[in-house]
Amino acid sequence: MKTLKDLFLDSLADMNYAENQLVKALPKMAKAASDADLRMAFESHLEETKEHVEKVAEIFSAFGQEPKLKKCPAILGIIKEGEELISENKKSPTIDAALIFAGQKAEHYEIASYGALREWAGLIGNKEAAQLIEEILEAEKAADTKLNSLARDRCNASANEGDTEQSRRQASAAVEA
Ligand code: ZN
Ligand code: FE
Ligand code: FE
Repeated sequence: MKTLKDLFLDSLADMNYAENQLVKALPKMAKAASDADLRMAFESHLEETKEHVEKVAEIFSAFGQEPKLKKCPAILGIIKEGEELISENKKSPTIDAALIFAGQKAEHYEIASYGALREWAGLIGNKEAAQLIEEILEAEKAADTKLNSLARDRCNASANEGDTEQSRRQASAAVEA
């Protein structure tokens, strides 16, 4: 028979695996971005994601446990789909809209997961763990909001107008020359 604490720790191990996979995926997403601010958003979320790996280890230790990993097929699927989108939209004005689309799917998976984990940690009565999860959750929500603004402010319009930052830069360089 599983307890809520068992379910919590198994699910935390799944998120540990997911965060570690995202540490590998985010540099590829940053590299694929055409928009400089989008690239920076992925780079800064990479740094946050490394902090999440450390915070997840602290949460395990708040339960007197060593950090564990449990394979997360969901994040592997989201990352694989993101890689497909990169190769399909590479060198196209749609690349940034596609990257945000993929990135937000990862953020929403994390937001859904940490939301439940925070509630469970509270119910189990581990306030330290609940606080650490809340901190990760806030960073994931902020990353999602940032991607949303980039899509709304520029990247969706660039995709629609057939425009990339690179082509804009080339156009303005040609005007200056
Ligand atoms: Zn994270
Ligand atoms: Fe998972
Ligand atoms: Fe994230």
